[in-house]
Amino acid sequence: MISVWKGWSRVKGSLSASRRVLLILDFDGTLSPLAETPDAAVLPLVIRQTLRRLTALPSVTVAIMSGRPVTYLRRMVGDRRVIYGGNHGLEMRGPRLSFIHSEARRLRTTVRAYASAWRSTLNLIPGALLENKGLSLGLHHRRVPARHLPAFHRLIDRLKRQTAGRPFRWRTGKKVWELLPDVAWNKGKAALWLMKKMKDPRPVVVGDDVTDEDMFRALRRRGTCIVVGRKRSAAGLYLAGQGEVPRLLRSLEKELSA
Ligand SMILES: [Mg+2]
Repeated sequence: MISVWKGWSRVKGSLSASRRVLLILDFDGTLSPLAETPDAAVLPLVIRQTLRRLTALPSVTVAIMSGRPVTYLRRMVGDRRVIYGGNHGLEMRGPRLSFIHSEARRLRTTVRAYASAWRSTLNLIPGALLENKGLSLGLHHRRVPARHLPAFHRLIDRLKRQTAGRPFRWRTGKKVWELLPDVAWNKGKAALWLMKKMKDPRPVVVGDDVTDEDMFRALRRRGTCIVVGRKRSAAGLYLAGQGEVPRLLRSLEKELSA
């Protein structure tokens, strides 16, 4: 793994050889600094402005691929030219583009029922938070004090038993457990779907979490993959931290508008 800046001449070469570029960006921990609660996340102004200039370039399409729902991403970014991929790509919306994974759509009412049944139980644990994302649920423990963590994890175990045998799966991310429809889909498959739909532009993928690794594995041979934070990753390049994302976007803008 080398840093983006050390490998910049290669990034530059790959971009200048491409007529169309698809920039796929994760949201939390990539565009937005990681926050204490999901509600507290913000999109720094400098990033919003650079994104706007990038989406204005005719050769560039920007897609945001996140575990958040599309409605949230749209509200935070507020740019109609962006393609929003929500719920880890189970739903995607953009100009002339609308997708919801059909099995996930069918499980929506069950997700809603779990959300209302679990909220009060989760509220008994200080700091715990349930995020209803429509097609999936997020159970957050970033603000749960250490002494209450065992109770949080016991509850997760109980809910796991409750959903055993149902068409759902559990996965853990940064200080969160998620309940997702058990469908053969992830950010990587969603990114490939988008690539095909757009007739294979050159991808540039940036993300920080384990779910982004599916995109890196799917696209690393076809473009540039950059992981935020120096860690084991299928991405070939890394940024030292989220604080370097604005500089990365500005550098991409510079190359792509040249
Ligand atoms: Mg992330």
